[in-house]
Amino acid sequence: TEKENDRDKVRPDVSFKDVAGLEEIKEELQETIGFINNSLKYKKMGAKIPKGIMFYGPPGTGKTLLAKAVAGETNSTFFYASGSEFVEKYVGVGAKRVRTLFEKAKKEAPSIIFIDEIDAIGTKRNSESNNEKDQTLNQLLVELDGFNSSETVIVIGATNRLDLLDEALLRPGRFDRHIHIGNPNMNAREKILQVHTNDKPLCKNLLIKDLAKKTTGLSGAELANIANEAAIIAVRNNKNIISSKEFDAAIERVIAGLELKNPTVL
Ligand code: ATP
Repeated sequence: TEKENDRDKVRPDVSFKDVAGLEEIKEELQETIGFINNSLKYKKMGAKIPKGIMFYGPPGTGKTLLAKAVAGETNSTFFYASGSEFVEKYVGVGAKRVRTLFEKAKKEAPSIIFIDEIDAIGTKRNSESNNEKDQTLNQLLVELDGFNSSETVIVIGATNRLDLLDEALLRPGRFDRHIHIGNPNMNAREKILQVHTNDKPLCKNLLIKDLAKKTTGLSGAELANIANEAAIIAVRNNKNIISSKEFDAAIERVIAGLELKNPTVL
């Protein structure tokens, strides 16, 4: 149905100010934003604009958020897909889904297509043939090669492991810009915590800097989770502001959760 088809299409209400601590990366992406916002000028000059960007790095570091922000900054339609959605038992189904996704994105251009976990379809092809996966990857390559310049469609892929991807995907004209997004350093953690506590009543004595010091090694997603947990704990304890006590409990809880999931993580 029409509704189902449009499930993953949005005009995101996210901009660069929502993405904290990735200043250099935002700077780098200004170029892409310029391409999208001035696509007509490039077209008249006969220049093809780069269309594929690969974000790589550990989970929860803001890759999806950043892709949405690029769409927000350019007023583009945002299409979200996860690589695993394309992998099906029946040969040809994934390839057809890829084709449909690009058709829709062209219709709604300017568009950003974000493909999370692209490794699900994009790992190196080997002699042990996997027809369905290979056909899906081939279709993605065809789409990347084939856009004509009348529609501005930028494709952003995300993976935890760039080294696992098939080189064909990373070649010039395809995903030829590779941007590493790592876990935030102390300064970045402070900024991320700031963004996620902006809307919360905080105790005057609470120093975000101190929280940043206590959260070494955590991702942006985990910091967002800590800010929310602290608010939940404050409500549960009948507080009307959040103090370092609630934050300490929240940090403990989030770190304990991580240790449960993966005992070697910390
Ligand atoms: P995955 O690889 O698991 O898909 P990801 O890198 O795409 O993760 P996001 O989904 O973008 O990570 O991040 C999850 C949430 O964490 C965001 O919606 C946001 O709330 C928070 N977050 C992560 N990084 C940042 C950041 N740099 N600034 C502000 N918020 C952040």
